[in-house]
Amino acid sequence: MRQDHRADQRIRTGARRFLGAACIAVLAAVLTTTGTAAPASAAVPAAAQKWSSLMWHSLTPTPQYVALRKKLADQRSSLSTRSARITQARATHGAAQTSLTTAVAADAATRTSLALATEALTTARNKLTLVSRERPRSGTAVTAAKNAVAAAATTVTARRAEARTTAAALKTAQAASGAATTGLDRAVEAWRTMYAAIKINQQRLIALDKSAQYASQAAALSRTVVTEVRASFKVADTTSVNGITVHRSVAFSFRRMLADAKADGVVLSGGGFRTRQRQIELRKINGCPDVWTAPASSCRVPTAIPGRSLHELGLAVDVTADGRTLGADSPGFRWLAANAATYGFVNLPSEPWHWSITGG
Ligand SMILES: [Zn+2]
Repeated sequence: MRQDHRADQRIRTGARRFLGAACIAVLAAVLTTTGTAAPASAAVPAAAQKWSSLMWHSLTPTPQYVALRKKLADQRSSLSTRSARITQARATHGAAQTSLTTAVAADAATRTSLALATEALTTARNKLTLVSRERPRSGTAVTAAKNAVAAAATTVTARRAEARTTAAALKTAQAASGAATTGLDRAVEAWRTMYAAIKINQQRLIALDKSAQYASQAAALSRTVVTEVRASFKVADTTSVNGITVHRSVAFSFRRMLADAKADGVVLSGGGFRTRQRQIELRKINGCPDVWTAPASSCRVPTAIPGRSLHELGLAVDVTADGRTLGADSPGFRWLAANAATYGFVNLPSEPWHWSITGG
């Protein structure tokens, strides 16, 4: 690794020196014709710039999308509040129904008691009439009958008061039950309204989300990017992302991928750009039958023929996690397998660690 780094460093220093001289010549030419220097990105081919722009759009949601996503989050939170209100309204409704059942039974019982007491009073009155008409008239029997009528009348008064109380309680319970039913209906309706609004906004959000479209356009362009970058590649077109040297056109996307992986608890590192010279060295180190013609698969560790590796363009990265090359069973590989396409990176199936914009 260290050797690799030093080799890269040497090449880059050399390249910078060379570029310094070249730049002065180019700048002089540009200044004589237009009076201004060409933009720094001019060195990056059109397809690579397009790829970069598509991935930027894919990974950068529009303000409208962000606003709608926020609104949806608020609406989902409101939906859960409304859901809790339904639970509460259902409990209130259940309790009101229980109270109503109790009040109906109490009312029926007091009515029956009142009817019985009224009947007893009638019987006592009839008895008093009978004993009053008896001849000879028994004073004791009349007094007893009068007392019985008075007692029955007292009971009727008491039962009537009870009946009034339970009737009032029934009315209250009926009103409470009605209110609880209305409350429950309203709570359900409020939930349904919010649910429908969320469904609509979810559809809107899907319609606004062009990230997959942009990413697939970028993917369709990736082979052209490789061809164009290969034709005009300069070491100055590379940049460092968390210590990994990659081509400028993939830097934004690659940085975001590392950051998002890290946010998911997956810390990724690795090696990106390597020089042609280093690729030649690796062909020897990795035991390829020869440097220039033997297929990559014939080496001890698969190693592309110099001039064909995307590492030489900074468009491929050999990913490591915890200082180790990524294996197919690692959490890092699983994360990349699930997410890398979102950032425009594809795996070379024979090498779980090798991720590039074409999978090559
Ligand atoms: Zn590789």
